[in-house]
Amino acid sequence: MERAREKELYMEKFLTYSGNDLGAVYTAEETSFRLWAPSAESVSICLYKQGDGDCKISTEQMKRDVDGTWTLRVQGDLDRTYYTCLVTCDGRTRESQDPYARAVGVNGVRSMVVDLAKTDPDGFDLDRHVFVKNPTDAILYEISVSDMTRDRSSGVKNAGKYLGFTEKGTKSNEGFATGLDYIRELGVTHVQLMPSFDFGSIDEAHLETEQYNWGYDPVNYNVPEGSYSTDPFHGEVRIREFKQMVLAFHEAGIGVIMDVVFNHTYDIEHSCFQKCVPDYYYRRDESGFTDASACGNEVASEKPMVRKYIVDSVTYWAKEYHIDGFRFDLMGILDIETMKEVRKALDEISPDILVYGEGWTGGQSPIPDKLRAMKSNVKRIGRVGAFSDDIRDNTRGSVFYDYETGFASGKQNLENAVRYSAVGACFHPQVDYEEYSYSNGAWANVPSEVVNYVSCHDNMTLWDKLAVSCREKSRETRLAMNRLCAAMVLTAQGIPFFLAGEEMGRSKPIEGSGQLSGNSYNLPPYTNNIRYENRSEFADLFDYYKGLIAFRKAHKGLRLGKAEEIKKNIRFAESLTEKNVVAFTIDTEEEILLIAYNANEDSVKIELPADGMFQVYVENDKAGTSCLRSVAGSVRMDAVSCFIAVRKKSA
Ligand code: CA
Repeated sequence: MERAREKELYMEKFLTYSGNDLGAVYTAEETSFRLWAPSAESVSICLYKQGDGDCKISTEQMKRDVDGTWTLRVQGDLDRTYYTCLVTCDGRTRESQDPYARAVGVNGVRSMVVDLAKTDPDGFDLDRHVFVKNPTDAILYEISVSDMTRDRSSGVKNAGKYLGFTEKGTKSNEGFATGLDYIRELGVTHVQLMPSFDFGSIDEAHLETEQYNWGYDPVNYNVPEGSYSTDPFHGEVRIREFKQMVLAFHEAGIGVIMDVVFNHTYDIEHSCFQKCVPDYYYRRDESGFTDASACGNEVASEKPMVRKYIVDSVTYWAKEYHIDGFRFDLMGILDIETMKEVRKALDEISPDILVYGEGWTGGQSPIPDKLRAMKSNVKRIGRVGAFSDDIRDNTRGSVFYDYETGFASGKQNLENAVRYSAVGACFHPQVDYEEYSYSNGAWANVPSEVVNYVSCHDNMTLWDKLAVSCREKSRETRLAMNRLCAAMVLTAQGIPFFLAGEEMGRSKPIEGSGQLSGNSYNLPPYTNNIRYENRSEFADLFDYYKGLIAFRKAHKGLRLGKAEEIKKNIRFAESLTEKNVVAFTIDTEEEILLIAYNANEDSVKIELPADGMFQVYVENDKAGTSCLRSVAGSVRMDAVSCFIAVRKKSA
């Protein structure tokens, strides 16, 4: 028989289970265990006193139950009892943590039964999601739990921990706010946490040794990472501290988005997926396991129990931890149907939960592109956004070629590309889609499906990219380029996003070598830490970002929600004679906004689009909600800058 068909039949014989009681369901009187393991010959639960070491309490045989599941009930109060699943398949017995574990011991090797109610910090019962009215009102800020407070300059006691964000009034040596207060001062609406589920690349048992990893190597999807807690050995601690962090953000009015990495696991051999149901959870072709993630494997989201697992996991985080949004790592690996199911399930909790991801993969997948949640398929998913590599590379230059520049850093002939990005990859009659070759036409239905950015954890920081690609330019010119990049992201239609520290010239230097790092996932804190002393060195840049954020929040025209409004209300100036200049107006009920980008290293004169006085809010190195001056007729724009002026319609 053809191997593919053989596999298909093998698949078909698996039963699927649709209940919501997988894992350990705790009550004070008894705990019920249910594991989906249809191909197993026998399954037992091993109970342990602790998350590691030789401390087994007993081994309890599970009984085969409906739809490929195995069940066991254990009498008594099992809160904080550790357990594993002993699964025998094809004569081979392996000990695994429970894929549905809600708590684990050190390094996630053993699962733990937990009374979740007891893990709630004071006030968590009254905590509510933090949402914005429309997705385009969001301003996303990518942070790492570790990076944000680990450096001594943060003055945070629980440095690099969840609890670091619960400290109020923390200050740098220079007297500026740090940690949570710093983020609040900047004015962003949401933080996007880099991997904070339990990942495998940091040894939680030896945190006294300096270790660092971004954490894109999932081990336990439904449990917080242990190294960010004050005690990774006791399973309830990381849960409570994660909730304390969420509570602190919410009290500050900031939403919390999780970076979820369902596209691959740390490895196959030691994965609970592989141990419980061999070869089910991963994609394969004739040559073996495939690797669209470029991390060693890819998860087969299209299989019913994998899809269910992903949907169950995000709904669990949304309900149990009050998570306000999800960023899907390498979303292009997951199938469209799964992302639709994710959206549907989260809608039942709240349609305001944000969902977006990377609409690409790290390599070839056996599943055809048209079935996966690629950027080019965003229109077919619905209300799931994708990062715009268009605006990223058009504005700052390609992430693949360090020396390449973008519009803001001097590359020529990108005026049409800038228009494409400014309208949030939606359709606009003044964008030439034939000429624009980076993406295939307008890939978004609505601006809320587009996440605009010029920096994220991957690749060089914006400041480093400018340092390398514009190394012959002065610091002043590079600062102007940085400001123009920021303004282009914060004035584009869609959802703006940036990497923490972009607003203070964050750099990722490699210690001792003088080199700058892009893929710094396993480099020491020295490279990855946020350094708060930069706030003084880049004080004007910080103020510019803060001002732009406040300006965006104050003007609805920058946050249009419908594609129709983009088509109707935005008009690009066609009469500009200068190259490397793009100007457009956004016409709303209340006002006319004029936005112009000049990437030339000389000033240029532009005509104002309407008669009467315009109030200037963004010019040269200034941005904010106070009027800088009034102009009429025409205006001379500074070299390498964004100019924004407003004319109110009433009065
Ligand atoms: Ca871990």
